[in-house]
Amino acid sequence: MLNFNTLEVGYDIPARPGMTLSEVATPCLALDMEALERNILRMRNRTRAFGVAHRAHGKMHRSADVAQLQMRLGGAVGLCCQKVSEAEAFVRAGITDVLISNEVRDPRMTDRLAMLARRAKVQVCLDDPAAIADLSAAAVKHGAVIGCLVEMDCAGRCGVAGSDQALELATAIAAAPGLQFAGLQAYHGSAQHLQTHAERAGAIAAVTELVSAVIRLLNAHGLPCETVTGGGTGTFALEAASGVFTEVQCGSYAFMDADYGRIQNEEGQRLDSGEWENALFVLSRVMSRPAPGRAVCDAGLKSLSAESGLPLIRGRGDLNYASISDEHGVIEDPRESLRVGDMLHLIPGHCDPTCNLHDWYAGLRGGRVECLWPVTARGKSF
Ligand SMILES: *Cc1c(COP(=O)(O)O)cnc(C)c1O
Repeated sequence: MLNFNTLEVGYDIPARPGMTLSEVATPCLALDMEALERNILRMRNRTRAFGVAHRAHGKMHRSADVAQLQMRLGGAVGLCCQKVSEAEAFVRAGITDVLISNEVRDPRMTDRLAMLARRAKVQVCLDDPAAIADLSAAAVKHGAVIGCLVEMDCAGRCGVAGSDQALELATAIAAAPGLQFAGLQAYHGSAQHLQTHAERAGAIAAVTELVSAVIRLLNAHGLPCETVTGGGTGTFALEAASGVFTEVQCGSYAFMDADYGRIQNEEGQRLDSGEWENALFVLSRVMSRPAPGRAVCDAGLKSLSAESGLPLIRGRGDLNYASISDEHGVIEDPRESLRVGDMLHLIPGHCDPTCNLHDWYAGLRGGRVECLWPVTARGKSF
């Protein structure tokens, strides 16, 4: 039998704190800790200036350590999660305030949601009065209180469409034992990546109009909306400036990715050119130089999501990551500059699904591995 303790690195980790970059096994998910801290501080300053709370979206990183940094350094009031199992992993790791910014309709999972609400502050979204009986029964069974937000349909996904349905739902929540009506969620997912600031502003203006009408109607019926939450990296400043949102839910700002980098800010510049820095990379090495102008690296679909585009290569405008397969990336290198063993910092097309492919983040500072953080809620999609 192999004695894994004798191996230099350890059998299940790509890196150890203290290592230099050259010692890291690739592909390896990596964080530039200084860029991450700057992004987190910037978001704290932006949301403070607007006077809105920030509830960081944990579905992006699925990391309790990044979440703690967002709360301690970034002043985030808590976390958003998308799934009950994801929320369980964060609460187990010490996060005490989670919003499941999504509907939960599986009775197995509403039961677990209610159990979780005994250990932490837990909120969830609803878009159907038929969901109330099950959720309320689970809360009563476990002696829990679950905060409930009415989700508004902003972009043709989940949510109720209009004011009358929102009133009906909020009224029924307020009357249900174990449930507390907490306000509204209005997240426009497809507006986040609209190319220009003007397009995003138009989309969020419509959201704000809808939400304002709902708040007026609910208030007139004695149902105050303590929380009005929504917004992501692409639009949060619009929600924050609207005067009706109390909270924003940005996720990708902390790491950034190639797809977000391509959209334009208010000045018409790339989003990754000023405000937000790329802090997330997949470290990869050249493993073959099979033909003139072609290099092959060791990071493919098992370490990078590609549904939002192929990765960019940091600092190497002369190279092009041209095609991807399970374990390989083909790189066009017209100047023949790459050698086998060269390390590349790949900027993933889409951060969320990329992080979920890995077990560990190697946190880098000053050319060394500073920390090795688990992807706490990896695979927690149920
Ligand atoms: C993904 C998501 C966010 C965060 O979006 P980013 O674009 O990553 O900032 C916010 N709210 C909800 C409901 C989401 O699903």
